Amino acid sequence: MLTYNPIIQPLNSDLFSKKNIRVEVLRLDLIHPEVSGNKWFKLKNNLLEAQRSGLRTILTFGGAFSNHIAATAAACKLLGFKSIGIIRGEESSVSNSTLAEAKQNGMQLHFVSRENYKRKEDQNFINELKKEFGDFYLIHEGGNNELGIMGCSEILTESMDQDLVLCASGTGATYVGLLKAIKPHQKLMVVNALKGGDDKEGLLNNYHFGGYAKHTSELLEFKSKFENDHNIPLDYVYTAKLFFAAFDLINKDKIPENSTVLIIHSGGLQGNAGYEKRYNLNPSR
Ligand SMILES: *Cc1c(COP(=O)(O)O)cnc(C)c1O
Repeated sequence: MLTYNPIIQPLNSDLFSKKNIRVEVLRLDLIHPEVSGNKWFKLKNNLLEAQRSGLRTILTFGGAFSNHIAATAAACKLLGFKSIGIIRGEESSVSNSTLAEAKQNGMQLHFVSRENYKRKEDQNFINELKKEFGDFYLIHEGGNNELGIMGCSEILTESMDQDLVLCASGTGATYVGLLKAIKPHQKLMVVNALKGGDDKEGLLNNYHFGGYAKHTSELLEFKSKFENDHNIPLDYVYTAKLFFAAFDLINKDKIPENSTVLIIHSGGLQGNAGYEKRYNLNPSR
């Protein structure tokens, strides 16, 4: 688990052949059944640091569907840490498969009101949590600290020298990590899963489909067709938007002909069951 053996697969389509663009997918969703995707890279250096400082309990924050909560619970179980998840919302209104799985992996769940959740970076609140739970190693929401970013810079290895790297973005920590690892001849473009502003250099803001964790019927149709055509599962929140963007950019000639592209599948599949229940979706898979 701590050694990274990247899995890269070709992605074939008539569109790509027509434009003579070679597309490959980096399958971070396959690195581990539960600790999959970019969340593992954000966590790993934090967990090593916790180990070094002799702390055996990890405390972190997240929403009820959070891939970060799921990954933290599973990674802590694997590495023998006790884990505590501070979850936004009331327990009764947020029970779902993400949290059930986290609990099964030994995470102690502690529900706080939206008001209190906003205090997650307030030292007084953290001190209160220490009084309640004892000493812990704190990982901020989403794992977005220097160690998390450093971990994300390890996603790209020496041999990955495609012209363009495409990735989904939420907080942008993965993006910043990848920027550190990109080679001089490479270009990085990220697809924002949240509603943002206008496109900026490298940041694509027009594939949010209504905003974070939102979708349109066009996105749902794309997702199920893609999964059928390519036998690669996507998540609703990030990677469906990412792959939609890849096809759209190539179709609109925004990616130069004859180039090579690496799309990073950042995982997130654990969230699909909860998402489908929440929106009452019934994918024919
Ligand atoms: C969290 C997440 C992202 C976004 O990562 P950031 O570092 O927050 O930008 C992308 N894809 C998946 C599947 C995620 O779970």
